[in-house]
Amino acid sequence: MALMGQMMAMPLLISSLIKHAARHAGDTEIVSKRVEGDMHRYNWRAAEKRSRQLAQALARLGCQAGDRIGTLAWNGYRHLEIYYGSSGSELVCHTINPRLFPEQVAWIANDAQDLVLCFDLTFLPLVEKLATQMPSIKHFILMTDRAHMPAQTSLAGLLCYEELIEAEDGAYTWPDFDENTASSICYTSGTTGHPKGAVYSHRSSVLHAFGSALPDALGCSARDVILPVVPMFHVNAWGLPYSCAIVGCKLVMPGPHMDGKSLFELFEAEGVTFSAGVPTVWLGLLTYVKTNQLKFSSFKRTVIGGSACPPAMMKTLIEDFGVEVIHAWGMTEMSPLGTVSTLNAKQAGLSADAQRRLLEKQGKAIYGVDMAVIDDDGHALPWDGVSAGNLVVRGPWVISSYFGQSTSPLISVDGVPGWFPTGDVATIDDEGFMQITDRSKDVIKSGGEWISSIDLENIAMAHPDVHEAAVIACAHPKWDERPLLVIIKKPGAELSREQVLEFFEGRIAKWQIPDDVQFVTELPHTATGKLQKLKLREQFKAHRLPGT
Ligand code: AMP
Repeated sequence: MALMGQMMAMPLLISSLIKHAARHAGDTEIVSKRVEGDMHRYNWRAAEKRSRQLAQALARLGCQAGDRIGTLAWNGYRHLEIYYGSSGSELVCHTINPRLFPEQVAWIANDAQDLVLCFDLTFLPLVEKLATQMPSIKHFILMTDRAHMPAQTSLAGLLCYEELIEAEDGAYTWPDFDENTASSICYTSGTTGHPKGAVYSHRSSVLHAFGSALPDALGCSARDVILPVVPMFHVNAWGLPYSCAIVGCKLVMPGPHMDGKSLFELFEAEGVTFSAGVPTVWLGLLTYVKTNQLKFSSFKRTVIGGSACPPAMMKTLIEDFGVEVIHAWGMTEMSPLGTVSTLNAKQAGLSADAQRRLLEKQGKAIYGVDMAVIDDDGHALPWDGVSAGNLVVRGPWVISSYFGQSTSPLISVDGVPGWFPTGDVATIDDEGFMQITDRSKDVIKSGGEWISSIDLENIAMAHPDVHEAAVIACAHPKWDERPLLVIIKKPGAELSREQVLEFFEGRIAKWQIPDDVQFVTELPHTATGKLQKLKLREQFKAHRLPGT
């Protein structure tokens, strides 16, 4: 009979992270550029107290274990308090991406059945417009103080965040409960059909925070000043609000100000050493810094992920600015961290060129993530750096199902069930470096945000002069990918590029409208009539989008 371990069965809870930070890094600062325009400074001790006050306020509003607390908010201290105040009190923090088309925002809030919606001032007009379409929401909380509350609003009973906090004394003890309880939900549009919810647990979030903070992963330290540019509505800002609490470092939040100038000034003013974001953000920052012939004085390391980091960007950051680039890959469904490109002692002795070739790959799996590349029959392919196949993963912070879906997304590898298919196509070399070579999922990633090709095709097909439409990703120097619409017109129809693009106005978010339209007489199909997107992408590989 097995001998059982005799360690304490303390659940891994998100509240333990902020309790630790408050006790051991209590006076370490959290600095936020507010939506209201000014700077806000306090520390982990104050953040923990206000998170407890928020937990009390949410309980007073009638929230009960499992209820979903939606957010439409930028990176800032109040958003951080909602992360901890809701999850810590057994509620579920549901961050919603405000960049989506309004109808999608409402769809997501309804799918998650949010009971409360907390939102920044920026989103007041959006919430006023959508309120009647989100019947599950009983309380709307504006994340501001009394002075900034609107004189008039169509939102009946709109609550003021600061008033709710002030009304509570913070005499609240974080409760203990099962570590497998849901802590937060994040929807991803990186799948076919409607966005799908990934439901994280306390256990998965704490383990992810541990794993991702390790030196050869993100390498977070108490000596760092960390600025997550990646939004808190994108997979919990890659878990940084949690890993920063584990290490107790200074945290700097940019609010809505993510242009190159604002970021540079914040980096310099607060002594930021480490940051994280998608390639498009760094492009803006680098352009500003180069144009104005500036240098970073404290910035040492950055994680770039969400889309492939262009080798030229990596080279500029390393060689011109002395900033170490950590190329990382992950997904909403993976909390998100999967692989990180860092070198071991042996590889650190390679030539600079050989090192760069490794660092440009998406990297090695961090502890907690198991990966494989498989062929179409579900057989694992060799780790030889050339055999490209579907990338599958498993681990304690990888989803096993989507919120509210009865069918499992998991598949078998060599007959062993329980692997999550990522929709990415990759190779893995004999040192374990994974490199994304393609994507089997039919979505476009522009500046770190998903665009559904199906949504765009459906809109195009609704045009009376369109016979068939296909949307593919086309390379773009700033946004990485932009949608290209390929159309077969109805016989005899007169239809221009401009008329097609006009048709999209008001039917989808402006930034999701295709950049270009190409007219063809036939589209490639499989024997079963399915569009062959790979073939189409190959056909338009050399296509240059207007303005590039
Ligand atoms: P999301 O769920 O929005 O975080 O998107 C995850 C997807 O973004 C992955 O499945 C990839 O297709 C893509 N992705 C993320 N990081 C990278 C990277 N470093 N290189 C290439 N693609 C990436």
